Amino acid sequence: MLIKLNQNAGNEVLGLLIARLTSLGLHPCVSSDGTHTIVGIEKELSKEAMKEISSIGGIHEMLPFSTPWKLCSRAFKKEKTQITVKGVTIGGPEVIMMAGPCAIESEEQLRSIAKQLAKARVKVFRASAYKPRTSPYSFQGMGVEGLRLHKLVQQEHGMLIDTEVMDVRDVEVVAEHVDIVRIGARNMQNFNLLKEVGRCGKPVILKRGMSATVEEWLMSAEYIMAHGNHQVILCERGIRTFENSTRSTLDLSSVAVARQLTHLPIIVDPSHAAGRNDIIPALCKASVAIGADGLLVEVHHTPDTAKCDGKQSLLPHELAQLVLELDAIARAMGRSL
Ligand code: PEP
Ligand code: MN
Repeated sequence: MLIKLNQNAGNEVLGLLIARLTSLGLHPCVSSDGTHTIVGIEKELSKEAMKEISSIGGIHEMLPFSTPWKLCSRAFKKEKTQITVKGVTIGGPEVIMMAGPCAIESEEQLRSIAKQLAKARVKVFRASAYKPRTSPYSFQGMGVEGLRLHKLVQQEHGMLIDTEVMDVRDVEVVAEHVDIVRIGARNMQNFNLLKEVGRCGKPVILKRGMSATVEEWLMSAEYIMAHGNHQVILCERGIRTFENSTRSTLDLSSVAVARQLTHLPIIVDPSHAAGRNDIIPALCKASVAIGADGLLVEVHHTPDTAKCDGKQSLLPHELAQLVLELDAIARAMGRSL
C-alpha cells in the first residue's frame, strides 16, 4: 500500500505516521513523486488500522496494490516517466543513443572515442571506471582517476556521461562526477547498493540481472524508488540461457512485458547480450522496433587492444552508420533519434 500525504503535510505528520506504521510491525519507506511525500508499506492495512492512521490527519490518499511493485507500476502512474538531464529526455519521443567504451583506459582513449560519438547523435557517453570482472587477475578499472578523466573529457564534447557503481562506498564520488549512475547486472540485487543510489539524487540505469525475472527486476527498481529516487531507467542486457552462440540471450520480450507493467523508461544493451559485434546492428534495430527508449552500445576506437569487451565493441564509424539506419526505424515507430 502507498500512503500519499497532503502537499502541505509537515514532518510532524510524517513522523507520527512512520512511528505508527513501525509499531504495527511494518517497514515504511519514504519517497516523493515530486509533489507529494509517499510512504510505502508491503501490505494492505486492515480497516481498523486505516481508520486509526487517517486520524493522524494530513493524508491525501491510501492506494492499495495487487502487485508487490507499487511505485514503478502503471497502476501508480499511467503516463510514461520522462527523465530529463541537462536538456536530454529519456522516455520521451526521442530514442536516446548511449555509447562508449566498456572501460575507461586513458584520457586519449576517451577523447578519441568521444570526439567521434558526439558527431553521431550520441547523447550519453558511457564508460566505466569500476569494472566487475569474472577474474580477479583482469583489469579492474581506473577508479577515481577514471571518473576524473571521464568528467574532464566531457567538457570537450558536452554529452552526458554515465558510469557503473559497484560499491556502496563509491556511490557519493560516482554521483559527484557523472550525470547518470549505472547499476550493473551483477549488482541488480545488491540491496544495500540499491538503497544507497536511492539517496544519491542522480538518475540510475538499472540493468537486469542475468538470471533475474522481470518481476525481480521491477522489485529492484522499486527499492531505488522507495528509498527516494524515482529517476530509474530499466536496461535489458540479456539473460543466461542454454544458447551459446551469443554471450547471453537478448530478451526483447522483457521490454514489451515491462512496458505494460511499468511507467519507467526502458533501454536495451545489445552489446553484453551478444558478446560479439557482428549482430549488434540487428539487435539495435529490433530494440528500437519493439519500443526501447534508448540503446546502450559499446564502442572502441581500437577494439583489438581494448582492456575489456573489445570483441563486442563497434568502431566509432560503424556506430555512426548504425545511427543513420536506426533513424528510419525510429521514424516508422513515430519517434526520432
Ligand atoms: C557494462 O555495461 O560494462 C557491464 C559490465 O554490463 P553488465 O552489467 O550488463 O554485464
Ligand atoms: Mn562491457
